[in-house]
Amino acid sequence: MCDSKSDNQPFLTDWSKRFSGDAIAVLKPKNTQEVAALVSLCNQNKISIVPQGGNTGLCGGATPISDYQSVVILTSRMNRIHEVNLENSTITLDSGVLLASAQETAKQSGKLFPLSLASEGSCTIGGNLSTNAGGVQVLRYGNMRDLTLGLEVVTPSGEIFNGLRGLRKDNTGYSLKDLYVGSEGTLGIITAATLKLFPLPRSKATALVALEDINASIQLIELINQHCNADLTAFEIISSKALSLVPIGNEKLAGLVNNKSYWTVLIELSSMEDEEKSYTQLESLLEKAFDVALINDAVLSKSLQQSKELWKVREGIPEAQFSLGTIIKHDISLPISALAEFVSSTEVKLKNFWPHLQTIIFGHIGDGNLHYNIAPLTPEFSTELESRRKDINQLVHDEVYKYSGSFSAEHGIGQLKRDELTQRKSSVELGLMKSIKIALDPNGIMNPGKVL
Ligand SMILES: Cc1cc2nc3c(=O)[nH]c(=O)nc-3n(C[C@H](O)[C@H](O)[C@H](O)COP(=O)(O)OP(=O)(O)OC[C@H]3O[C@@H](n4cnc5c(N)ncnc54)[C@H](O)[C@@H]3O)c2cc1C
Repeated sequence: MCDSKSDNQPFLTDWSKRFSGDAIAVLKPKNTQEVAALVSLCNQNKISIVPQGGNTGLCGGATPISDYQSVVILTSRMNRIHEVNLENSTITLDSGVLLASAQETAKQSGKLFPLSLASEGSCTIGGNLSTNAGGVQVLRYGNMRDLTLGLEVVTPSGEIFNGLRGLRKDNTGYSLKDLYVGSEGTLGIITAATLKLFPLPRSKATALVALEDINASIQLIELINQHCNADLTAFEIISSKALSLVPIGNEKLAGLVNNKSYWTVLIELSSMEDEEKSYTQLESLLEKAFDVALINDAVLSKSLQQSKELWKVREGIPEAQFSLGTIIKHDISLPISALAEFVSSTEVKLKNFWPHLQTIIFGHIGDGNLHYNIAPLTPEFSTELESRRKDINQLVHDEVYKYSGSFSAEHGIGQLKRDELTQRKSSVELGLMKSIKIALDPNGIMNPGKVL
């Protein structure tokens, strides 16, 4: 338990500093039994609980809401790796293990745990499961749900559901693990998980590529897929405005940034073959793309260090954008075929609505997932932009729905998008979700004010 008010403060505000609240206590159990005892006590006394991992979530899901007088349960002391099973290609670990530690443990065993996010040094496996995190390698390996084989969960009544099975096939009734993945702490506390591991690629190649428009980037994905589908592990898009926000030390990269192209894509190929394989493969693909005028310029990494520099550019954007003032974020997904039209038509509609804004666009275009953010043209317009937040959200999400997309691709609902969920989901879907919540958590103690 944290002792003083100031000790608690970091756990009462979210990463973006948009949400903050109060809690009656911040508790740090060290194992599943302690979690179960705490949850049981809270349930008997109808005290609500906010589970929290690394507190890097982007929808305020891990931040308590003062009105509910909750306790925050941190998983940070639950950081034990139970087992790496090489024959099953699985890792079993506590939910408080940091994502970066899970990746490192897998690597030490000659395996890959492929979930990869810019927040991996701070976010936890429990948070990744509860938000069904995506990140930069979904294209090749899937999101957290796809990587999950089994879970251990403390239910809202304090019972322990031990489903830590590493089976690839298990059709024995409803899939409870799939219910808990993405449930954002509203149905129980995930205390441990069994996750899939993959062979560790022996070679990797990364390139930052300048091109004219989104259509060109989609054609480039197709070209890559035709030649080496399984080797494409990441395909990220960055608008020129988003790129210009990140400080660039490397001269060659700076040239690319100053290029007149409006878009840049970060491509990564990986392979089980020898060191040179991915590099030569990517080089030859980029030559093909030049030949058909699909791309304008490219920087291809020659070493691990150069590859890290390229990734630093992409990973620096979420923080760098705050230098512009108020940011209205949208984590959207669309059918890949509709992305180009969505981006051009929404830009026009936004500018017609209010001309003093600009779009900062980046994201996992290979999955159809864009971080479509709106900033003021200059910081002085921040307050005016803030006053238009609701209308801008409505405009962007109306466009997303017009193209059969989703208003939350990978960050979840939390408290940020709760109203949106009510507005956008059908009454049948909402009714089913509410029935599940009431059946599993009849006292409504788990993370109140989030999701539903
Ligand atoms: C710079 C940056 C980059 C990011 N990039 C990505 C990205 O590419 N893709 C992506 O998907 N996300 C991304 N995120 C969002 C965030 O990192 C992920 O949502 C991550 O999975 C959250 O993990 P966490 O441990 O920090 O969870 P928290 O923020 O602590 O919690 C998130 C939610 O999960 C619940 N929760 C946490 N632990 C448990 C548990 N053990 N049991 C039950 N419920 C629990 C909380 O109550 C809350 O609702 C990014 C965030 C930042 C700051």
